[in-house]
Amino acid sequence: MTDYDVIVIGAGNAGLSAAATMQRGGRRTLLLERHNVPGGAAHSFVRGRFEFEVSLHQLAGMGDEGGNGPLRAVFDMLDVTKRLEFVVDDDLYRTVVPGVLDVTLPADWQGVVDTLDSHYPGNRAQLTRFMELVRDTGVWQLVARANLHKMQEQIEWLSGMSDVRRYGLKSFQAVLDEFFTDERLKHVLASYWSYNGQTASVCAFMDLARLLTLYIEYKPYQVVGGSMSMSSAMLASFLEAGGEVKFNTDVSKIVTRGGAAAGVRLADGTEISSRMVISNAPTVTTYTRMLDDGVVPDRVLKDLRGRALGPSATVLYLGLDAPAAELGFLTSTSFITADLDEGNLDRANRTLEPARYLVATCYDVRPTGYAPPGASQVALASLHYGAPWEALAPEEYARTKFAYAQSQLELLKAIAPGVRDVIEEAEVSTPLTFKRYLSQPAGTIYGFDQDISDSWLFRNEDLAPNVPGLVCISNWTGAGGYNSMIVMAARVCQRILSM
Ligand SMILES: Cc1cc2nc3c(=O)[nH]c(=O)nc-3n(C[C@H](O)[C@H](O)[C@H](O)COP(=O)(O)OP(=O)(O)OC[C@H]3O[C@@H](n4cnc5c(N)ncnc54)[C@H](O)[C@@H]3O)c2cc1C
Repeated sequence: MTDYDVIVIGAGNAGLSAAATMQRGGRRTLLLERHNVPGGAAHSFVRGRFEFEVSLHQLAGMGDEGGNGPLRAVFDMLDVTKRLEFVVDDDLYRTVVPGVLDVTLPADWQGVVDTLDSHYPGNRAQLTRFMELVRDTGVWQLVARANLHKMQEQIEWLSGMSDVRRYGLKSFQAVLDEFFTDERLKHVLASYWSYNGQTASVCAFMDLARLLTLYIEYKPYQVVGGSMSMSSAMLASFLEAGGEVKFNTDVSKIVTRGGAAAGVRLADGTEISSRMVISNAPTVTTYTRMLDDGVVPDRVLKDLRGRALGPSATVLYLGLDAPAAELGFLTSTSFITADLDEGNLDRANRTLEPARYLVATCYDVRPTGYAPPGASQVALASLHYGAPWEALAPEEYARTKFAYAQSQLELLKAIAPGVRDVIEEAEVSTPLTFKRYLSQPAGTIYGFDQDISDSWLFRNEDLAPNVPGLVCISNWTGAGGYNSMIVMAARVCQRILSM
């Protein structure tokens, strides 16, 4: 008899979803989290009279009540929806390149075509066809991901979708170039590149098509009380079903017996046995640090060595003593880029030179309850690889991060020039912050680089474990993001339960 049926290492989005699904499916489950709060990236922190959202900019995959949003389906199944209040955005995003373009897209298929055609006339037919391709490619993936265990059916379906096969694994930029000539129009359509971690010429068309589909089909959502409320709701679902959780608990090893996972060893030496271990810790850490030599097949280690660490982010969190509308925030999400040159962007993401891009998220255009009345909360996030921050001398750290934050404020002037005058609280997190608090190598926020060769289609989301009894579920095993993590973890666990 083992101590538990299942041990879940890590209470991030994926760990919480997995633990709640297993416990509610009748498996005695123990959830172990290194930090003193649940959520991983999905949590908040307090400065002065503001509670700051750490990471959630736009929640994908919810959709209307009674609809078929993948995230809503999982939240319903886990009895989480009733514990949360959501705010729906009608706008997808606003994209600004100072002096070049300023376009706000609605979260509506036809609205995207109409808006872009009004800004860049003469493109209606191509826009219509392009958005149909985005929708077909996006919807196919959502269905395919739900039915990975029925892959033969999916392959048959895909064989009838010649456009998806033709374009899916090209870069997003290559497909844009085939459809359009206006660089401004292409730039607006590629705005979500940072949500995938890669610029449009590196990112697979299918990945950005899936993101656009998730946000247009199911609308961008905010959560009242922020992502911390979601983490707390998933934890409540788990505990209510009889699950056990331990915080401030660091798992140092996965114990194996006869080559199969048989439990965990904590940092204080305590061993706890289980029939199955689910790791929400980074996959690279799980396979290279938490298992004894010889347990992980060589092909897996070789595969890990061939992949690149994805980006992290530098985020300036601002508590502002003025209402959002007064400051110029017209949409919850605004993408601001210094110019149209993608090469400049890619260089800036990999160095400590001033920010050339950011996503400005204002949580009070449609208030989510975080900022006090009359005030507003804004996060300025720029993708950033961890390497230059890790190479920085410690005595240079504070000066560098504040200089970087100043450059983010400079970019923000394009939409909200008066922000500097009303800053009440400011905090900066860098890749080193995410490395420290999330235990993610180089602070990466989406796991591996998600380029064309590393699309979810080629990843091991299936149930054939590389180490018997051990399942890895995190950013590193599927497409990153809230919706993807929560949905993927629940589905993998449902399949385990049905075996
Ligand atoms: C700044 C930022 C902005 C983002 N914006 C968005 C967005 O707008 N929309 C979106 O969909 N996604 C966004 N994301 C991505 C999203 O947050 C992640 O994809 C998702 O939260 C990852 O969930 P996870 O469970 O895989 O990992 P994590 O959240 O990293 O959780 C892993 C957990 O495991 C714990 N752990 C690790 N090792 C151990 C160990 N040995 N023992 C015990 N516990 C351990 C960690 O402490 C952590 O709590 C953003 C992320 C960041 C950081």
